[in-house]
Amino acid sequence: MTNINSPIWIVTDIDGTLMDHHYDLSFALDTLELLKNKKISVIPCTSKTATEVRSLRKDIGLKDPFIVENGGAIYGDCKESSEEWKLVLGKSFQYLRPKLDLIAKEIGYPLKALNDLSNEQIEQLTGLKNDAISNAIKREWSVPFLNPKEEDREKLREISLKHETTIYQGNRMSHLLGKGSHKGKAVMELKNYLGQSNVKIIALGDSQNDIPLLKVADRAVVVPGPNGPNPCFSKGISNGDYYLAPYPHSKGWSSAVRELINSF
Ligand SMILES: [Mg+2]
Repeated sequence: MTNINSPIWIVTDIDGTLMDHHYDLSFALDTLELLKNKKISVIPCTSKTATEVRSLRKDIGLKDPFIVENGGAIYGDCKESSEEWKLVLGKSFQYLRPKLDLIAKEIGYPLKALNDLSNEQIEQLTGLKNDAISNAIKREWSVPFLNPKEEDREKLREISLKHETTIYQGNRMSHLLGKGSHKGKAVMELKNYLGQSNVKIIALGDSQNDIPLLKVADRAVVVPGPNGPNPCFSKGISNGDYYLAPYPHSKGWSSAVRELINSF
């Protein structure tokens, strides 16, 4: 049963936030159980595909809606049947894939899409294996690609806008999306769709692509890695926009969630 009428939603990034870079979330399991008992919704909001998130939800027993591919679409379980509902917010993979080549042409060197890598290369990049690789490349609403040269990021963003697209940077890769698509917009659309305009949002993230998500939250949490938080959050942490979780990954996630659900 979904907890969608709960007064608090935990909206969380997955990779690097709920999970470490070896896909371990063991420190969060007790807290996930606690949230289930308290009937507080846990809404994944990730660059992962719907297929990947379905498998994760099954593993950890989540029933709430889920935002995939950096805000490209939202899915949830229908009340009356075993079907899923779907809210499409972004552009399709088929629309976006040729745009990546046009953008590459303008920047002057190839931009390599995740879907064009061999399984060995994907395993090396992501640590995923076999079925997990097939699930990760079932892209419908975004095109992940190998990070461009750091000094070209700004220029690349400008070029992408000309092509009615936008680029966000995740942990391991960059992601090409339809213009105006991002995690924050998806959360607002979900609130609207479910008629939950008063719900309080605790959002958690670890990378640049989570900034739009943290911006729409009532409490915004940055989850650090073992070497500290992503530098893109430095200013926001020091001026108090973001709460910095006290530990990396699932341990920090767990600690921050427990503290903040008691603050409402
Ligand atoms: Mg992340």
